[in-house]
Amino acid sequence: MTQQTLAIIKPDAVGKKCMGEVVRFIEQSDLRITAMKMIRMTKAEAEGFYAVHRGKHFFDSVTTFMSSGPCVVMVLEGAEAIARWREMMGLTDPGKAAPGTIRAKWGSSIEKNVVHGSDAPETALFEVRYFFSEMEIIGGKE
Ligand code: GDP
Repeated sequence: MTQQTLAIIKPDAVGKKCMGEVVRFIEQSDLRITAMKMIRMTKAEAEGFYAVHRGKHFFDSVTTFMSSGPCVVMVLEGAEAIARWREMMGLTDPGKAAPGTIRAKWGSSIEKNVVHGSDAPETALFEVRYFFSEMEIIGGKE
């Protein structure tokens, strides 16, 4: 089934100048980038994005991190895009991520782990709409 998912290249990756390599990694896959922009979230915007994690021990830390610098937000589209992108990212903790995954290659900690990906169709819909209007997504108005 063709799906859309929300991907973010996080501030650690932009900061250490590997966003081009992450984009290349996506281009070499079977996923298509159908929207892409660079943004800098405020702390409140990061809290809204990660609202499901409110109350967890890392909530303050991860939202501070996500608002610490620019990120690149993207919509990826393709067959089973949600699972496919999470497979390409690897596990949350880069130390446990499978070799060859993005987090294994470029991640530096469980928090500074390079990329984000939606984890289910409902969250993908919420997350895509959090950052993009229909007009900004290629093919979005078809
Ligand atoms: P994901 O779906 O693999 O991104 O993982 P989660 O949804 O569980 O967590 C969201 C994000 O919060 C992760 O990608 C990390 O950046 C951060 N995070 C998760 N667990 C921890 C933790 O134990 N400590 C800290 N500092 N950050 C964490």
